[in-house]
Amino acid sequence: MVSAGTEVAKRRDRGRSKQVISVVVPVYNEEEVLPAFHTRLAAVINTLPFPTEVIYVNDGSTDGTLEILRDLRSRDSRLAIVDLSRNFGKELALTAGIDHAGGEAVVIIDADLQDPPEVIPDLIKPWAEEGYDVVYAQRRSRSGESGLKRFTAFSFYRVINWLSRVRVPPDTGDFRLLSRRAVVALKRVREHHRFMKGLFAWIGFRQTAVSYHRSPRAAGRSKWNYIRLWNFSLEGITGFTIAPLKVATYLGLVVAIFALVFGGIIVWRTLVYGSNVPGYPSLMVVILLLGGLQLTTLGVLGEYVGRVFNETKRRPLYLVQEYVAADPADSATVVPEPDDARERRA
Ligand code: UDP
Ligand code: MG
Repeated sequence: MVSAGTEVAKRRDRGRSKQVISVVVPVYNEEEVLPAFHTRLAAVINTLPFPTEVIYVNDGSTDGTLEILRDLRSRDSRLAIVDLSRNFGKELALTAGIDHAGGEAVVIIDADLQDPPEVIPDLIKPWAEEGYDVVYAQRRSRSGESGLKRFTAFSFYRVINWLSRVRVPPDTGDFRLLSRRAVVALKRVREHHRFMKGLFAWIGFRQTAVSYHRSPRAAGRSKWNYIRLWNFSLEGITGFTIAPLKVATYLGLVVAIFALVFGGIIVWRTLVYGSNVPGYPSLMVVILLLGGLQLTTLGVLGEYVGRVFNETKRRPLYLVQEYVAADPADSATVVPEPDDARERRA
C-alpha cells in the first residue's frame, strides 16, 4: 500500500507545489487570544515538512477579530480568510473551512488554545506514515472545567453511544486531522442540523486516536452555556437516532396494557362490591400523568418534525461575505470553488 506520506513526497518531487496540510480554525469574537494563538500555530507550522495553509473562518465576529485576521494575513500569506456573512455557529463555520480547504489533509483546531497547536505534528504522523483517514485528539485530562460540565459531557457521550449505532469516541472535541478522502466524504453530507463529532464518526474509514492534555481557555470567554449545550446535545441525539420516537410507542403500549388490567380490576370490583364513587385522587393522578406523557411525546415528535421542516427548505448551509485565499505564489493552493457556484450550475 502506498502511504499518504509517500504520495505527498512524490507530488513534491514532481515540482507541483500544492498545499498539503490545511489547518481550519473557526473564530468567533476571539480578539483576545487570536494573536497568541497564531504565534504558537505559526511556530508549529514552520517546523512541518509539508507546505501548509491556515484557513481562518470568521464566524460573524462583532469585535476586532476580522481586523486582526487581515493584519495577520498581510504579514503571513499562508493565511486564508473565509469571512461568513453572519454568525452561523461553530458547526457551520467548520463546514465552511473544510469546504475551502485545498490540502491533502485537513486539521481542525479551536482558536482558544484549548487544543494545543503543538499536538498537530502528532496528528499528522499516523496519517503520513500509516495512512489513517481520521486522527482525532483525545483528551487525557480537562483542566479548568467544572465538575458539572465534566459530568454532563460524560453522560452525553454515554447516552448517544447507547442510543445510536454511530460510535462517537468520548473525550474528543473537533480537534482532529482528516484525510482528503474523509473530507470528500464529509462534503457529501449537506444536512443543516450538523453535529460534527457525530458526522466525523459516521463517515467511518480508518480512525485512530492521539491523546493530549487539554488546557483551559487561554483568554476570552467560552461561547457555551448550559442552554447551548442542551441544544447541542439535542442535535446530536436527533441527528443520529430515532430512538426517542420509539420510546413514545413503547411507553404508550405499556400504559395501554396497564390501563387494560386496571380497568378490568375496576369493572370486577364494581360488579362484586357495587359502585365505588370516591376516586378523585386516582382520577387526577391518571389524567395528569397521561397528559404529561402525551405532551412530552408530542414534543419529541415536534423536535423531529421541526428538523424535517428545516432540511426541506434546502437553504445554503452558510454564506461567504469575502474569501481571501492563501497566496498562490507562496503556496499554489488550488482555490476550491465555493459550493453555491457548483450548485447553481447543476
Ligand atoms: N466558535 C465559532 N462560532 C461560534 C462559537 C464558537 O466559530 O458561534 C469557535 C470559537 O471561536 C473557538 C471554537 O469555536 O475557536 C470553540 O469555541 P469555545 O471555546 O467557545 O467552545 P468550548 O471550547 O467552550 O467548547
Ligand atoms: Mg474552548
